[in-house]
Amino acid sequence: SSTREILNLQVGQAGNQVGEMFWQMLLAEHGIDNSGAYHGNDPLQLQGAGVYFDEITDGGSTRYVPRSVQVDLDVGVCDKLRSGVLGNLFPPDTYLTSPFDAENNWAKGCAELVEAILDIVRKQAESCDALQGFQILHSLGGGTGSGFGSLMLSKLREEYPDRLMATFSILPSPKVSETIVEPYNAMLSVDQLVNNGDLTICIDNEASYDICTRTSKIKNPNFENLNNLISQAMCGVTTSLRFPGQLNGNLRKLEMNLVPFPRLHFLMPSYAPFYDPKAKHFEKNSVAELTEALFDRKNLLVACDPHFGRYLTAATIFRGDISSREVAVHDLQIKNSQHFVEWIPDNVSVSLFRVPPVVQTQSATALSNSTAIQELFKRTLDSFSVIFKRKAFLHWYTGEGMDLMEFTEAENNTLDLIAEYQQYQEATANDDAEEQHEDQPAQEE
Ligand code: GDP
Repeated sequence: SSTREILNLQVGQAGNQVGEMFWQMLLAEHGIDNSGAYHGNDPLQLQGAGVYFDEITDGGSTRYVPRSVQVDLDVGVCDKLRSGVLGNLFPPDTYLTSPFDAENNWAKGCAELVEAILDIVRKQAESCDALQGFQILHSLGGGTGSGFGSLMLSKLREEYPDRLMATFSILPSPKVSETIVEPYNAMLSVDQLVNNGDLTICIDNEASYDICTRTSKIKNPNFENLNNLISQAMCGVTTSLRFPGQLNGNLRKLEMNLVPFPRLHFLMPSYAPFYDPKAKHFEKNSVAELTEALFDRKNLLVACDPHFGRYLTAATIFRGDISSREVAVHDLQIKNSQHFVEWIPDNVSVSLFRVPPVVQTQSATALSNSTAIQELFKRTLDSFSVIFKRKAFLHWYTGEGMDLMEFTEAENNTLDLIAEYQQYQEATANDDAEEQHEDQPAQEE
């Protein structure tokens, strides 16, 4: 079968910093060095590599080049990337910067730059066998990743309506927050993601920070620490896209299995065991422990408690030398049946991949669609309301041509989203809401 490519777009500081680490881990998993040469020892490493890498053969040697566009309105971050370990791997014409900084303002995206990016994207898309979709890496709290990222998302949606739009979206937390207007930026972005995204993988700096301090025992975690564990989870989440397997082999199948209602596409990743790159010894966990951990809030990259909600769907991935007999996800579901909606049968999938992640011998990842995610939106909405009630800092946005209406709409749409999650949290198999019968997704092989 032909390769179905994914095009990565990393936008803004967080997007590019997380992206740099994600690509480093991806290279290592596929046995590719920083110059793009393959030195691996397992044919499985190359079998699905074309999903994320362009294979460039030149004079008998083959290089694997990340299919990625690096965007920032502030040249600093891209300059750091260029001079970093992967600097020579990304082709020079895939960097896009502008002399204008977004200055943490959602409204400061410029239209000319979007056109320039679409040109690069078109060129990349044309050289693909069959582009399956896009993945955008960005934060929602700043200006570029959130505002400009949203603008890109809507433009791509317009131009590629039948391609999948996945995002890895980093939500702000007061624990690592830099500016006071982050709740505005986040709220405006969530509103865009509801309408223009197909799969939003939520990464919450609050949860990432807590995992660093509690599990990895890092006293004052910096972005590098956060990004390290975020990248581990991203590699876990994308495993089924990059290695041959039965289930969830592309973004469309992931969407079909995980998103029962199009608006409710906000997914929470969990990962186990997190490792500390500086630790000398790695704990060996039993498969039962790994399974438990995936459904434990301590391993979730979103700061909310799944025990306060219900899982609509989940996809679990186990990596390493693990046999399907050891994986008892079904037993766990029966034991905790009140936390899984009963009106979507077989709503937790299990897939096994022999290739382990870098450094670790085994790992487990889950991507969950839980109604508990409403906690994340409530938290963001609460901090939004505190400043919006007083109309504080709004002139920065209206000065860039935004209307107050856009803020009110974003607020109302988020309230609706929260209500929808609550509705399906309370729904039972015996309700006669018709759409529950019609829209039931089938687990697809
Ligand atoms: P932009 O360049 O204008 O998109 O702004 P940023 O990406 O710096 O957005 C600011 C938000 O992203 C804040 O909530 C920061 O805490 C967060 N952030 C910035 N850099 C990083 C990073 O490298 N990793 C993580 N996890 N969060 C980041």
